[in-house]
Amino acid sequence: MSVKKYVYLFEEGRADMKNLLGGKGANLAEMTNIGLPVPPGLIITTEACKEFYACDKKFPPGMEEQVREYIKVLEDKTGKRFGDPQNPLLVSVRSGAPISMPGMMDTVLNLGLNDATVQGLAATSGDDRFALDCYRRFLNMFGDVVLGIEHHKFERILEHAKQRKQVDYDNQLTAEDWQVVVEEYKKLIERETGEPFPQAPMEQLFRAIYAVFNSWNNDRAIVYRKINKIPDDLGTAVNVQVMVFGNLGNDCGTGVAFTRNPSTGENVLYGEYLINAQGEDVVAGIRTPQPIATLQQEMPAVYEQFVQTCQLLEKHYRNMQDIEFTIERGKLYMLQTRTGKRTAQAAIKIAVDMVQEGLISKEEAVLRVEPAQLDQLLHRRIDPKASLEVIAKGLPASPGAASGQVVFDADEAERLGKQGEKLILVRMETTPDDIHGIVAAQGILTSRGGMTSHAAVVARGMGKPCVCGCEALRIDYEREEFVVGQLVVKKGDIISIDGASGQVMLGQVPMIDPEISPEFQQLLSWADEIRAMGVRANADTPEDAAKAREFGAEGIGLTRTEHMFMAQDRLPIVQQMILAATPEERAQALDKLLPMQEGDFYGILKAMAGLPVTIRLLDPPLHEFLPNAEELAVEITRLRLTGGAEKEVRAKEDLLRKVRALSEFNPMLGHRGCRLGITFPEVYAMQARAIFQATARLVQEGVEVIPEVEIPLVIDVNELRLLKEMVSQVAAEVMEQFGVKFEYTVGTMIEVPRAALLADEVAREAEFFSFGTNDLTQTTLGFSRDDAEGKFMNDYLEKKILPENPFVVLDRKGVGKLMRMAVELGRQTRPDLLVGICGEHGGEPSSVEFCYEIGLNYVSCSPFRVPIARLAAAQATVKYGRR
Ligand code: PEP
Ligand code: MG
Repeated sequence: MSVKKYVYLFEEGRADMKNLLGGKGANLAEMTNIGLPVPPGLIITTEACKEFYACDKKFPPGMEEQVREYIKVLEDKTGKRFGDPQNPLLVSVRSGAPISMPGMMDTVLNLGLNDATVQGLAATSGDDRFALDCYRRFLNMFGDVVLGIEHHKFERILEHAKQRKQVDYDNQLTAEDWQVVVEEYKKLIERETGEPFPQAPMEQLFRAIYAVFNSWNNDRAIVYRKINKIPDDLGTAVNVQVMVFGNLGNDCGTGVAFTRNPSTGENVLYGEYLINAQGEDVVAGIRTPQPIATLQQEMPAVYEQFVQTCQLLEKHYRNMQDIEFTIERGKLYMLQTRTGKRTAQAAIKIAVDMVQEGLISKEEAVLRVEPAQLDQLLHRRIDPKASLEVIAKGLPASPGAASGQVVFDADEAERLGKQGEKLILVRMETTPDDIHGIVAAQGILTSRGGMTSHAAVVARGMGKPCVCGCEALRIDYEREEFVVGQLVVKKGDIISIDGASGQVMLGQVPMIDPEISPEFQQLLSWADEIRAMGVRANADTPEDAAKAREFGAEGIGLTRTEHMFMAQDRLPIVQQMILAATPEERAQALDKLLPMQEGDFYGILKAMAGLPVTIRLLDPPLHEFLPNAEELAVEITRLRLTGGAEKEVRAKEDLLRKVRALSEFNPMLGHRGCRLGITFPEVYAMQARAIFQATARLVQEGVEVIPEVEIPLVIDVNELRLLKEMVSQVAAEVMEQFGVKFEYTVGTMIEVPRAALLADEVAREAEFFSFGTNDLTQTTLGFSRDDAEGKFMNDYLEKKILPENPFVVLDRKGVGKLMRMAVELGRQTRPDLLVGICGEHGGEPSSVEFCYEIGLNYVSCSPFRVPIARLAAAQATVKYGRR
């Protein structure tokens, strides 16, 4: 039986082999093959990891032999040998999943060191201190990652060593001091595991590979995958790479850089480095690094080569790169390149600039920006006119502003977040273990670490405001406070941060609405050129309609008229209408409401001049307009006890009787939607009259208006026939009365499965369909939309019964099937049937994509989500082609 190939040399891979080699491995392979200076290495595939899990955490047959064979190749390439006391081969062992999960899994550096090879390293480097420093780092990482010994136990030994010598920093310890630390580390390992530290490099290697495979399922990796919707079954590859050292002296260093600014998108090299430092020191945010520009003075030749390499990588990948490098004795090595994570603002600027630089097409630019990310830019920011009490300034690591109570602990942040509190997580620095706290907080503030520290990278990825490296803060976790100058800020105090300027303010600060930048406009205008599906907005007021237009809406897909009834001055009249004892009394109330409604429609239709406006007739159950029965009963009792006037008490009792009579067991399935229109046709007639009178007036004023009258919650064509007849009659009367002609259509919402199933019949009367997917989801799944999320949805998601919350992301499998059927059936009857969606899903990118796939003419969403829907619709068009 031939065994599978589980191990690849860097030379054998390519960038498009990410699924097999992991992102890191595939890119190391690509860089090797384009001739960049990459230390040699091998990759153990994700396939091996999957089989490892499939066969009860055992390496698949053949894998170990292949690793041994390829280690020999590395030995031949470098002239060094594993375990050679004169010239030892040392490697790093790192995880690398198909989708990057920064900092979530484990890494071991300097593997191959033992009591004998450390002598060889001392000899070849000519530096005993360095060799022993490497050895103690290795013992610590191996002990922590592979043997599961808590890191703080190593830290304690190190602290003692420093105390003994009365020094503050690691670099003040001598070779002899490190020798002592090494011995103590080995004793610690033996004490904790009951076995001596494994000296054989091959054994070290296989145990490290085992640990990396195992780390695919550590807690923080699982949480990260959940948040980022990364499938659990991808597995991780393992990269074994020959070590190069950035800590051999002052002609060495290590750093990370982005080829463009990942926060603003500006086209300048952006990064930082540390002289005489190893591996993770930069990312870990332990020492605050120097900006990349100073490398130009410190090592001009290396800087020049680095700049050229960055340019080459950007051209090669045609995307902004996030690069890790090491300088060993003045020689540059590339350790990683990957597509850089960026804020929405940067994503837009980079995409637009790259089109202008001729690097990518407009279609690619549109695909480069994650529509959901745009949310960041459509959020509020600090009012520039506000006078701020700035208490400190750190690095502007991730833009956006946030206010909230100070919290110092990730677990506590998670707990308070669940209670709906607004929080700013304040830490000296964050580590991957704080991920749940970062998720729960509105913003992150750290006192240490640079723009590429963990907090900064993670916050940018999540689109959360972050200020880091704010060194003026003296944080005291024990006392749960931080001090800046004279000021003491305690847990629970409110602060604000501005991730675009790095400012930290005391208290809440005034915020303003977002604006759309010129680059954002440019990208959206390309999206508009590309997309083949309309985008409308849901708006109930002329102001919302105007805002929607500003954001690029091409009409209104839903005006909910009930919101107009809720206004202070109207509610009493609406209640009078509902409670009317006689038709005459009801008519009086409706007469009072008519001019008010007409005014509403006039304003909205005018704001949307030239564009279609769908106006839905009254939808919610009537009790929503009446006072709450329990509160009323309490009020009556109180009046009785305090000797209230008999007349007033009687009136309240009458009201209570009526409220009780209207109450329903399941109001969402009760007397609502067009059922109201069937039983109280005069209400719908008044609304239709208001729409048409507004239309007639606007037509007389020369304004082009396109009203679409919409009947909600239809289950049968017969409902529609009756109500359409009535609407048409009112229209005819208004035309007659005003002496003008106008166009209008009458259509229906599809929000009950029966309407979808009988869509061919419904389309005989309906001139348009609009999917009310809020109700359609509720009625298809039989989940109360008001209760599901608070009660059982989390269990359904956690237990993976449903992949997503169906009230957020359209349930393509169930609800989507009904929609697809309704579109097909509807168009069988009426080939030019206009079909849209106005449920919440109309602004959710993956649902928008589905709507395009099944042939909808437009999506409609809240005004602030219109830019998101425009971009998502363009992406769907690129993906599925024009229809
Ligand atoms: C819907 O049901 O999707 C809809 C848009 O109507 P409402 O949310 O007002 O019920
Ligand atoms: Mg509805």
